[in-house]
Amino acid sequence: LVRRVRDFCKRNGLLTLSVVAVITGCTLGFTLRGTQLSSQAKIYFSFPGELLMRMLKMLILPLITSSLMSGLSSMESKACCRMGVLTVTYYLWTTFIAVVVGIILVIIIKPGVGTEMDSNRLGGGPVMTSADALLDLISFMTPCNQLAVSLQYKTDLIPILKVPTRTITPNFVYIIPDDSNPNGRTVYLELTPPPEVMYKTSPGTSQQMNVLGIVIFSATMGLLLGRMGERGAPLVNVCQCINECVMKIINAAVWYFPFGIIFLVAGKILDMQDPSTLGRKLGWYGLTVLAGLFVHGLILLPLFYFLLTRKNPFTYIRGLLQAMVIALATSSSSATLPITMKCLLENCHVDRQIARFVLPVGATINMDGTALYEAVAAIFIAQVNDYELDFGQLVTISITATAASIGAAGIPQAGLVTMVIVLTSVGLPPDDITLIVAIDWILDRFRTMINVLGDALAAGIIGHLCRKDFPLSGTGKGHAHTVY
Ligand code: ASP
Repeated sequence: LVRRVRDFCKRNGLLTLSVVAVITGCTLGFTLRGTQLSSQAKIYFSFPGELLMRMLKMLILPLITSSLMSGLSSMESKACCRMGVLTVTYYLWTTFIAVVVGIILVIIIKPGVGTEMDSNRLGGGPVMTSADALLDLISFMTPCNQLAVSLQYKTDLIPILKVPTRTITPNFVYIIPDDSNPNGRTVYLELTPPPEVMYKTSPGTSQQMNVLGIVIFSATMGLLLGRMGERGAPLVNVCQCINECVMKIINAAVWYFPFGIIFLVAGKILDMQDPSTLGRKLGWYGLTVLAGLFVHGLILLPLFYFLLTRKNPFTYIRGLLQAMVIALATSSSSATLPITMKCLLENCHVDRQIARFVLPVGATINMDGTALYEAVAAIFIAQVNDYELDFGQLVTISITATAASIGAAGIPQAGLVTMVIVLTSVGLPPDDITLIVAIDWILDRFRTMINVLGDALAAGIIGHLCRKDFPLSGTGKGHAHTVY
């Protein structure tokens, strides 16, 4: 066994280094937690990790645009349509299954039952009419992501969650970027007072990447370029060159990752909040989420993969380990996208046209782990409040959790914030998110791994189902070191 482990480590040097980096980061973080570092020192300490995040984010825009534009331009409309419909159907279906798994587990384990809480807790949250809930469903897209960005840095921003969600302007419109810079997005927040918490959310700033907008824009351009024949060819060539360069940058940058991961993980542990008063119940809640992620990610999804492709899912998953470690370290499926793409092309031999379409779309709308977690968290909060949910409310939770996960961005702790929609749809106080926030950062890492795994397995399945349209899929010939 020792020899096999040694051989594996030798063959997978980068993966081994990344795993060692995660462990080192945890050890370093917990060791330094005892030594009251000043906030200035913490900033310096987090610097190498911040660099890693920036490197990954830098690659997202060129990767998505060049992948989609060059990928879709060379496809026939019928094949394209088939792949699009299959992908979206598969994503919705698996997300819904994840929610059901979460609901079943949390009802069986009952992590929140028996906690003594203040009897006046319910009623504190905004009471929503069905029309409000519907409006929220439509507007679930972006403002929450903005809040999530702030949340990852400052946990003292929690008061902003007291804002009734229906005061947030509908932002569904952002699927269509409104200026020539699809990367910028203005986030409008019409928050009700108190104004003293408003300033922390930087209303009206455009800091965050509108990934869904970029996907829609690039896919449209790609489809049109394909119809332009000779005249579109130069731009398609440019996109292919950009794509190839991005993959080369990724190949070089991955060697920095283990170093960055150490500081990324350790920095997060240094900033970690102490768990709230719920203690043991919170522990059971965390275990329920992890059990759900395990069942969905390592039993159900591989089973679907096997049933649909008749291939060994674990051989496929082995090729994705590097991406999973990066997801664990960064808590961001968007930031992991470049590495997932690399793993799919180089290790899993998925056809590159399939990977170029299925992965960016998946990183934007397919979040099985997030959906599962949102359902478990909402029911846990109901249990803590001694609030009986009837069957209709469970159905509402399953639908809103699916929608909220589609709306969550692939960034750290986005799911925590879109959960406001799930809570308010069944009359639970959104403020109670504070009960679970202490362990959210760790659960976020695991659900991001399942989000990434879901996208990657989907690419394998869609590649197999569309193999007639894409004859290279699964043969290993989709794999190319020089041409991506
Ligand atoms: N961090 C998750 C992701 O990037 C989203 C979430 O559940 O918060 O996929």
